[in-house]
Amino acid sequence: MRILVFGGTGDAIDLANGLVRHGHQVTTSLAGRTRKPRLPNGHIHKGGFGGTQGLVDFINRNGFEFIVDATHPFAAQMSTHIVDACVELNMPMLRVVREAWQANVDDDWQHVSSIEAAAKQLPSGAHVLVTVGRQHIEPMVLRDDCKIFIRAIEHPEVILPSHVCVILERPPFRLSDEMAFMREHEITHLVSKNAGGDQTAAKLEAARMVGAKVIMIERPILPEAPEVYSVAAAMQFVADHSASAA
Ligand code: NAP
Repeated sequence: MRILVFGGTGDAIDLANGLVRHGHQVTTSLAGRTRKPRLPNGHIHKGGFGGTQGLVDFINRNGFEFIVDATHPFAAQMSTHIVDACVELNMPMLRVVREAWQANVDDDWQHVSSIEAAAKQLPSGAHVLVTVGRQHIEPMVLRDDCKIFIRAIEHPEVILPSHVCVILERPPFRLSDEMAFMREHEITHLVSKNAGGDQTAAKLEAARMVGAKVIMIERPILPEAPEVYSVAAAMQFVADHSASAA
């Protein structure tokens, strides 16, 4: 089948590679925000489509037969455009999304709906590990009464004041390293998006072990679509669809 995979996550890369191995013609679409993205096999499309109608035209022009949304759970606009375009085209689609993290009974999480709300929760003097990526970090940067550690894959595109320190690292992260970092910098608060998955989950256990509070930004609500929670399940879904369409 000709399959369009929307990427921006490690799962999208694994899925595109798996689908190519199974003989599908795969195009992975990336927003183009990361300067040096990891690239999967198959074709690559970079950049937006100019909204839902542009996406509808792109799908039509390229004769795609199946669409997979493997974007990050916080890429709500893209996920909404994908559903709207598929409804308009009566095109089969699937969303691959990691299951959200859940707090344990002994965890101390505050649930918020935005980075602005997360920044408001911080007490003065907090030492904060911020793991929300390098975009939209302004509310954190503005908290000049706190020590802010921004961890991201690439450097934010702004000049940052001296109370903000950037740590450039790519997942996966190990529990021992997370705990060592939090202890060294006396982290009192961890700000995270509820991305789910194993690669970055060690920070949550580390926070529990060192007694840091977790401020968890919960996921935006997405329009309904068929969903699976792993690359393996997505591969099976596509195989079943391909067999029934043949
Ligand atoms: P967003 O707010 O949902 O999307 C904004 C616009 O960017 C979309 O309307 C679309 O432009 C374009 N776009 C987004 N994803 C695209 C894709 N995969 N291919 C082509 N165009 C895309 O998205 P975002 O939150 O800025 O995230 C951008 C990308 O980074 C996503 O692919 C996502 O998977 C990845 N990412 C996001 C986060 C996060 O926390 N948000 C974290 C890690 C990775 P048009 O309307 O012009 O088509």
